[in-house]
Amino acid sequence: MDFALIDLDEEHRALQLEIREYLTELFTPDVFAQEHEFGDGFNKKVYEGLGARGWLYPELPATQGGADFTPLQQRIMDLELDRQDARIMMMRGTSSLPMSAVRKYMPSDMAEPILKACAQGQAVMCLGYSEPDGGSDIANAKVRAVQDGDMWTINGSKMWTTGAHVSTYTFLVTRTDPDAPKHKGITMFLVPLDTPGVTIQGIRTFSGERTNIVYYEDVQIHDRYRIGGVNDGWSVLHGPLDAEHSIGVDMSDGLTDLSIGAGFCKVLAGSIVEVAEWANKTTGPDGRSMAEDTRVRERLGAALVEYEAGINTPGPMGRVRASDALVKQSAILQDLLGPAGLLPMDEEGSIGNGDTEYAHRFAQGTGTYGGTVEVFRTIIAQHVLGLPKASYPGSKVFLAGKKKS
Ligand SMILES: Cc1cc2nc3c(=O)[nH]c(=O)nc-3n(C[C@H](O)[C@H](O)[C@H](O)COP(=O)(O)OP(=O)(O)OC[C@H]3O[C@@H](n4cnc5c(N)ncnc54)[C@H](O)[C@@H]3O)c2cc1C
Repeated sequence: MDFALIDLDEEHRALQLEIREYLTELFTPDVFAQEHEFGDGFNKKVYEGLGARGWLYPELPATQGGADFTPLQQRIMDLELDRQDARIMMMRGTSSLPMSAVRKYMPSDMAEPILKACAQGQAVMCLGYSEPDGGSDIANAKVRAVQDGDMWTINGSKMWTTGAHVSTYTFLVTRTDPDAPKHKGITMFLVPLDTPGVTIQGIRTFSGERTNIVYYEDVQIHDRYRIGGVNDGWSVLHGPLDAEHSIGVDMSDGLTDLSIGAGFCKVLAGSIVEVAEWANKTTGPDGRSMAEDTRVRERLGAALVEYEAGINTPGPMGRVRASDALVKQSAILQDLLGPAGLLPMDEEGSIGNGDTEYAHRFAQGTGTYGGTVEVFRTIIAQHVLGLPKASYPGSKVFLAGKKKS
């Protein structure tokens, strides 16, 4: 792993500036206000603006709606998006997971227009895995799909389908053979969400993020929307699940975030900066600057160490490390601020931009979505320590990738 800083040549610096200027133009205050109010992880103007330039998935070839970016150019783009605090881009990451399966398994005359629309910001995909009965054990899916000629009828409900209300398609796990062993009776579909019989009901999380429960009532889907073989959905899911869990991802060029929890750590970083600024500006009851208070300094120092560990821990361990760091440190930092630390952004008396208050709320969900930290710990035991495959319900969900030595 090469940790050296990269000295950008003139051409890359020019690209960096071009991207920065365009993003500054695009990410206007109303975009952030909308995200704050609705928590969609999506903004039409931003997605279409980036998509029109091929910058939504710039690593894709231009013929597929991308910009033929090299890994270095892609890294520049990602860092510039981070600079904008672009939480709004969450649905871009979600969409990218099923896109690879659509490309691999759908006939190209079906797949190409769908993928191009995604790259151009005109279509979005969400993940229809979890159900009200449980999300860890995806293979236990109960949403039923029954075939009749060229058509399928889908019935059931999916829980936590984040982004369904702004998405064009959902990448849906269905049960097609209830009598087969559970991993062998699953089929994947890409369901257009405007199909009659689909009802989307919003759920607002503690952090303000919007997610959904989606009901499927006699939803009729043509067989062309099937992804992969009938009852072979488990192998279709391997790629997207591995990518989500950072299993088998090549990081040797040093141009990707080391940790899949890096996004959590960026939220922690915002909080650390806010508390440091507060300490510099605030005096304690004894008249001394809070920045000189040993307890404040120790806690800020400890939080920064946790942040560094979180962003530099690779593979599934990074996810756990980053979530644990954010959960623990955001509470400690909020505690340092006292009651004012509980006031959200724009509230009279709130501190800074309300980052610390938000970090604490956001932290709570990070131990759950994309697989819980408990489940991830069991993945680590197998993939990193080489312990035998776990055999409890749900264990196989996260063990699709090759075993690491
Ligand atoms: C904000 C948010 C957004 C989400 N977005 C999506 C989305 O877009 N699409 C989607 O399909 N899902 C989404 N999810 C669902 C998420 O993936 C599940 O919540 C998660 O996988 C856990 O499933 P569950 O909540 O049903 O808990 P369960 O699976 O019922 O688990 C309950 C408890 O048992 C523990 N447990 C279960 N199995 C094991 C095991 N094998 N080893 C150790 N402990 C275990 C869990 O850690 C947990 O504490 C989202 C969830 C949240 C909160």
